[in-house]
Amino acid sequence: MSCIFCKIVKGEIPCSKVYEDDLVLVFNDIDPQAPKHMLVIPKEHIGGAADINKGNSHVVARIFEVIADLSKSEGMLEGFRVVTNNGKDAGQSVDHLHFHLMGGRKFSWPAG
Ligand code: 5GP
Ligand code: ZN
Repeated sequence: MSCIFCKIVKGEIPCSKVYEDDLVLVFNDIDPQAPKHMLVIPKEHIGGAADINKGNSHVVARIFEVIADLSKSEGMLEGFRVVTNNGKDAGQSVDHLHFHLMGGRKFSWPAG
């Protein structure tokens, strides 16, 4: 499997790791769009948000528990944004489910 995030999970490609447990890996985005910009990913390969189902949604629940913890431990006390892009129209560029966790600045809404 040539998935770049699976390779990061396996340690075949290095990352700036922020957090890891048995289900979830968090690392800094290589092209940050905010002072804090992490990618929160399941260790198992899930293609994107459209591939979440009853068999894997427990991992997504864990991801959001981790996001809540990181928002405090990483100092995003004034607010943060969580984004997942799914498919071509949304600009998904890596086909392994990931949640962008961004903080440290103000964000406009609606997003473009
Ligand atoms: P997407 O465009 O799919 O929503 O987000 C993919 C994200 O992965 C982008 O923000 C991009 O900067 C990040 N990214 C792509 N390749 C790598 C990599 O090898 N290492 C890290 N840390 N981030 C990556
Ligand atoms: Zn993958």
